[in-house]
Amino acid sequence: MPTDVRHWLATAACAAVVGCGAPDAPEAPEEDAVHHDETHGAVHWGYEDADGPEHWADLSPEFSVCASGRAQSPIDLSAATSVSGAQIDRLVGEVVVSADQRAEVMDIVNNTHTIQVTPDVDVAIVIDGVRFALAQYHFHAPSEHAIAGKRYPLEAHFVTSNADGELAVLGVLYEAGEHEPGFDVIVSNLPRGEGEERHLENLEVGIEELRPLQRTFYAYSGSLTTPPCSEGVRWFVFAEPEQLSSEQLDAIAALLPDNARPLQPLNERELLLVTSEE
Ligand SMILES: [Zn+2]
Repeated sequence: MPTDVRHWLATAACAAVVGCGAPDAPEAPEEDAVHHDETHGAVHWGYEDADGPEHWADLSPEFSVCASGRAQSPIDLSAATSVSGAQIDRLVGEVVVSADQRAEVMDIVNNTHTIQVTPDVDVAIVIDGVRFALAQYHFHAPSEHAIAGKRYPLEAHFVTSNADGELAVLGVLYEAGEHEPGFDVIVSNLPRGEGEERHLENLEVGIEELRPLQRTFYAYSGSLTTPPCSEGVRWFVFAEPEQLSSEQLDAIAALLPDNARPLQPLNERELLLVTSEE
């Protein structure tokens, strides 16, 4: 279903960056900064030293798969097998999107591990008839996935889940280039303090306008890239990076730790490079 795949990719990306191409996005949404502590009661982990990725499995029994898992993320994407969109059902089945048209409310939290955005928008990926609803998206700097060893300045993860709690994540790589107006609402409302959360209301963030279509993407079965590193996550990563201005990239990256987990071995997994048919 190459047409559906393209439509899903374009719409999911557009929905996730909230407002790309929207001509009527407001300049000054109402904002209400609140504080909360997401780490209370949770096992502390991080990206450096004794709390870093090499030690995650030691921090809690619940994190053991971070070390023992054979299907971990992120990975280098260069060893992919090229397939056409018509063959994608070998891995993911039919993929379509259902989406409401705008987000009016959006929360942005700095949870010390990342900047995470929760838009109140009804967007879902449908994989083989199963609905995966967009829950949140967040950022990693530099990118977690690499292509032929190359990491990009930023990667966004759009996290969706189905009714059974299974996850599908759309990964988008970003490089320095054109200014992306759809990102301004995020960049101008970044929560700077650890644990700080911003609640934006009265947004008119449309998702109808499609970004330039991504015709190729990587698909594989992987894991959360943070503890507890749970496996069974369906990964889709655009093959071509999107562009943000250097100022936009820097504004987001400046608030993140170096939060890219080291590359994990592919092992016996199948990694596909899916090219939609013309
Ligand atoms: Zn992530």
